[in-house]
Amino acid sequence: MKLKIIEYPNPLLKQKCAPVERVTTETRTLIDNMFETMYAANGVGLAAPQVGIKQRVLIIDVGQIVDGESRPHPIALVNPTFQSQEGKITWEEGCLSLPDLIVPVERSEKVVVNALDPDGKEIKILGEQLLAVALQHEIDHLDGIILVDRLSRLKRDMYRKKLEKHEPIEEHIEDPKQVPAGLRKPYIG
Ligand SMILES: [Zn+2]
Repeated sequence: MKLKIIEYPNPLLKQKCAPVERVTTETRTLIDNMFETMYAANGVGLAAPQVGIKQRVLIIDVGQIVDGESRPHPIALVNPTFQSQEGKITWEEGCLSLPDLIVPVERSEKVVVNALDPDGKEIKILGEQLLAVALQHEIDHLDGIILVDRLSRLKRDMYRKKLEKHEPIEEHIEDPKQVPAGLRKPYIG
């Protein structure tokens, strides 16, 4: 079932989510519905608070290359926590809850995340580059942190006004050398 993606400035996006106490069939249904919602919106990540659920659940599909072809690679995590974060990378990010906003964000380049999978089993995910960006963007959502929090007050006000007028705003990285080659597509989650 496709769910409604809530958008800024809905206050639900600003709340810190509670850990899931037990992974159940209900959790798995939520995850299935989130995948359907994310794929329909052409996103590559989605966190439960974006569909109005205050639980530490996220999904990501940044794809993977198998035999030179791009294939789906769905990842669903419950109660994710960082075990380690290293390096720095800047990526242009967008958010399904923030229409028409693309903003460069500096993140860790490599992360290790511990979580439960949809069966409630403990798993460890190593994310580099785009997957690392995705994990950090979605875990931010679980803590009530969204991309507008990374804008200056002036730019945030501009964004709000543009939203009211339905005008897109884009920010570009001033120094393109900060972004590794071949990775120019914004991350949208
Ligand atoms: Zn987002």
